Formats: sequence, structure tokens, C-alpha cells
Amino acid sequence: MDNQLRYSSHTRLEDFGEQSQNTLLRSSVLIIGAGGLGSIASIYLTTSGIGQITVVDFDTIDESNLPRQILFKADDLGKNKALITKKRLMEYNSEAIINSIDKKLSEDEMKKLISHVDIVIDATDNLESRLMINKICYNIKKPLIVGAAIRYEGHVLKLNNTKDHNSCLNCLYSSSDENLENCEGNGIMSPVAGMIGSMMANECIKTLIGINNNKENTISIFDLKNNIYQRINIPKNKKCSVCS
Ligand SMILES: [Zn+2]
Repeated sequence: MDNQLRYSSHTRLEDFGEQSQNTLLRSSVLIIGAGGLGSIASIYLTTSGIGQITVVDFDTIDESNLPRQILFKADDLGKNKALITKKRLMEYNSEAIINSIDKKLSEDEMKKLISHVDIVIDATDNLESRLMINKICYNIKKPLIVGAAIRYEGHVLKLNNTKDHNSCLNCLYSSSDENLENCEGNGIMSPVAGMIGSMMANECIKTLIGINNNKENTISIFDLKNNIYQRINIPKNKKCSVCS
């Protein structure tokens, strides 16, 4: 494969260049959750030339996943999401190293895994997992991209975890919030998941290569019924049990 040609649409970008593409080729990303957001993010990260991707999901594929989890096909029903994701991603880019983990990880196992990658994509669908991943990433100073999608709405959080005074996800969602509930129960429009998954991949790439003017932790909020987009800096909660 001619990488110069393959990634020429990236390297022609004004603020990108071959050096940035080489950075992506040397980078490792952990994707936690291979559902509506993680499966889409994983496709773009693989095709964009991330060198090593690890996908974690213990869940199996069911029929209600198929409209938005477009890596999966009807033949995959009942199979593990991480294993099928690995198989499909290798078809997209045979030069990438793709790892899959098909079991539920303990906090210690998750911490070990996170410590070995450059950045984490949290595409889980429940608050308990999100808070655990946030705490680990904050404590070991690992950049974290979080996504959530429900109905026609989506959130993308970029948590740099580089400065001591950074805010974190726990500052926003320390108690149950309906926007972070499982999307299955509330319904979700399939392309909304696609858009949020793509945004997560884009934030991940920009963070890895340093194309990002805003050094603050941000939350981008999308109302895709009315096409309204808002980005705010995540305020620090002085009573946060993780970052304060
Ligand atoms: Zn916090």
C-alpha cells in the first residue's frame, strides 16, 4: 500500500502534513463500547490511519442494533460486537493493528489497558462505566473523548486531562442525567449516532496531532431535530469528587 497516496487528502490539508499522518500511524486508541457510536468512530479511526486500535465490548449483536451499528450485518446476530468489529476493521485497513476484548473488564483491568494507549474513546451507554473511565483517565492524565446520543440529540466531550485545574465528566454528571441514559429505552435516530460517532473520531484525531485551538475541556451539544449546535467549556465543580 502506498501510504503517501492513501492519505494524500489528509496531508494536503493546510495544518496537517506528512508529519501528522505519521503521528497517527504511531498512535494507539482504546475504544470502549462498539455500539452506535464506537462502531462508527472505529471505522473512521481505522481508515484515517491510526496505527493501533483496541476495541472493548462484551455485548452481542441483536436486530435492533442494525439500523445504526452499520459495521454489523444480519449474519452477525448473536456474535460478540468487539470480535466482529475487529474482523471488519481489518478489512478496511489491513495495515492497522486491531485488538479486541470481548469481556467485561474490572476497574483494575481497565486502568492497565488505558495506561498503555495514547487516547481513550468512551462510547459506552451507561453512566456507571462513564464515571469509572473518567476517573481513571483523570487520575493518569489520559486524554478522553466521550460521546452520548439519544433521540435526536448528541453530546461530544473533549477532556484533555493535562492540567491540574481541568474539569472532568464527573463535574457535569455526578448524578443520573437522562441525556446519558441507555439510548435503547428512549429511542435514537440512526444518523444521529453516525454523526456523533464521526465527531468523536474527528476530536480524537485533532487531539492526537494537536490541531485544536481550544485547550479547555469542552462539551459540544447537538440538537439534530432543529439543527442547533452549541459548544461550551466544561465548568469545574469545586465539589467534584474526582478533580477537586
Ligand atoms: Zn470533576
